[in-house]
Amino acid sequence: MWTLRRRLVREGTRSFARTRRKFSTEGIVDHHYDALVVGAGGAGLRAAVGLTEAGLKTACITKLFPTRSHTVAAQGGINAALGNMHDDDPRFHHYDTVKGSDWLGDQDAIQYMTSNAIPAIVELEHMGMPFSRTAEGTIYQRAIGGQSLNFGKGGQAYRTACAADRTGHALLHTLYGASLKSGCQFFVEYFALDLMMVDGRCVGVTSLSLEDGVRHRMFAKNTILATGGYGRAYFSATSAHTSTGDGCAMASRAGLPLQDMEFVQFHPSGIYGAGVLITEGARGEGGYLLNSEGERFMERYAPTAKDLASRDVVARSMNMEIREGRGVGPNKDHIHLQLSHLPKEIIMERLPGIAETASIFAGIDVTREPIPVLPTVHYCMGGVPTNYKGQVLTTSTATPHPSTTAPGATSLSLLALVVFGLSAAVDIAEQHASASAPAMPDLPADIGHASFAQLEQTRTADGERLTASLRDDMQRAMQRDVAVFRTEESLVSGKSTVREVEQAFNTDLSLKDRSYIWNSDLVEALETRNLLTCAAQTVAAAVERKESRGSHAREDYGERMDGEFLRHSLTWQGEVGDEVKVGWRDVIMKPLDDTFPEVPPTKRSY
Ligand SMILES: Cc1cc2nc3c(=O)[nH]c(=O)nc-3n(C[C@H](O)[C@H](O)[C@H](O)COP(=O)(O)OP(=O)(O)OC[C@H]3O[C@@H](n4cnc5c(N)ncnc54)[C@H](O)[C@@H]3O)c2cc1C
Repeated sequence: MWTLRRRLVREGTRSFARTRRKFSTEGIVDHHYDALVVGAGGAGLRAAVGLTEAGLKTACITKLFPTRSHTVAAQGGINAALGNMHDDDPRFHHYDTVKGSDWLGDQDAIQYMTSNAIPAIVELEHMGMPFSRTAEGTIYQRAIGGQSLNFGKGGQAYRTACAADRTGHALLHTLYGASLKSGCQFFVEYFALDLMMVDGRCVGVTSLSLEDGVRHRMFAKNTILATGGYGRAYFSATSAHTSTGDGCAMASRAGLPLQDMEFVQFHPSGIYGAGVLITEGARGEGGYLLNSEGERFMERYAPTAKDLASRDVVARSMNMEIREGRGVGPNKDHIHLQLSHLPKEIIMERLPGIAETASIFAGIDVTREPIPVLPTVHYCMGGVPTNYKGQVLTTSTATPHPSTTAPGATSLSLLALVVFGLSAAVDIAEQHASASAPAMPDLPADIGHASFAQLEQTRTADGERLTASLRDDMQRAMQRDVAVFRTEESLVSGKSTVREVEQAFNTDLSLKDRSYIWNSDLVEALETRNLLTCAAQTVAAAVERKESRGSHAREDYGERMDGEFLRHSLTWQGEVGDEVKVGWRDVIMKPLDDTFPEVPPTKRSY
């Protein structure tokens, strides 16, 4: 044992020394590709397969091993009007999606997504994805909220294709297999730092190999950002700890806008602290929520539906209780979900998974104690604005940006990943094949050096505040002030706390680990910097959107105001701590063609 440990220490020191040498001789490794994909979740892998199969020399760089991406955690399923359970039509799916977006979805993109959903699912099946089956052998589809037939007039649709309750797992593993088969070149556990820009054109990214600390410049004519959401800007999120909005922040630092960042969906019951989801089924089986006075408070907010009122109503009521001082726990900052009044047999028969999850993540026995829960970030709807081809939009007039594509820095459903991942690949492949495609510009010799200098500055930061403490301050402010309950007052308070954290990050950050090998202290600091960029823009856009629409529910502006706000918010922020600029972009209300109906805004009710 001791010999082994000594050997490991010796070898560790040797490779550390090697790395140091590389750094002192300005060792930066360069790579050149036709196309570069940042991120290996569902969106990144779908794009990578499409690009490689089209004959482009493609690299995919990812901070995680591909099958650890958050896509793996998706349970429910993927929507398409396959019509396996009853007659269905992509136009009904289109209608539901427009309505579900509270009219903020671009209707050309929604038509593109819903009409390409069926071939996308068939293609996944042909790649080998193990979908659940009907008795007849077709793909099984389940019902999920918000799905209707006949433009909302015909009852519940069964549109969600799934692989049991592990759909994301099946999808991600299928796509990873396909991408290996296609011959895509992977750079696994490489952390992308910044976009490299020449005259406003993206020519690749700078990155850090986490294993040995070597810096790499990855050059490509086209760069796809598919880095997932920014749920971890909040204290409680069902998403992975790695969902830190890196691609959004990279785009921001490169001068590009982010869009609709104020839209963040909350699920009422994530386990306090861990964020792991407790399904609505727990309340469906008779569980209920209690405040610190032991009161079943949902009876006051929703006398009929009580604990089974819609997600946003329950989540908002929980937040009201916490804000009014009736939260549970030493900090009075969460709520209890009680199941212990139910017969033990019922719990073990119908909710065995919940009992196990609560035991692992909250250390409690649900037959005796309540589960500590909190409204928890589930989906991030903001990100880098794109058109339906995945081209990044740079201005309020929706001009496509040359050479940057972002199907995954904005997408939120499994369907959007595969449809827009592929559409981005197709578009890039077409441009690549065209004779008029612009050549790669001349690259300045020192391109990317500023990004590496910034990395060094972060690695050697010697202030007083640890990353974890700064991140905690940001996450708690976002959870308290920019969550389900939003008023001018709460948002202004959230904005000023985020600003304080940004300043402390810039002037007082402290890193204890100075090494280049697996420096998780450094990675967390880089991720926190990215989260701060997302948080600052989320709160800035939430302040300016003085209406209630979809998940953005303001207590002080309860109505949807189409006259003024049927528009996407756009936000710009260069570096952490810079003032956030807010602008607007019109929603595209026309579908791609007249085979799909334009869905005009009406009141959204279910
Ligand atoms: C618990 C949960 C359940 C869900 N259930 C469903 C569902 O049932 N149906 C549905 O449609 N949707 C569901 N969703 C939403 C959906 O799963 C996600 O929106 C989607 O998987 C995101 O995929 P992505 O490819 O954009 O990103 P991710 O899967 O998050 O992947 C991001 C990738 O980017 C890489 N990356 C990030 N930053 C960097 C960096 N700096 N450098 C290099 N690489 C980087 C990571 O390594 C990773 O490979 C669920 C989400 C959660 C959290």
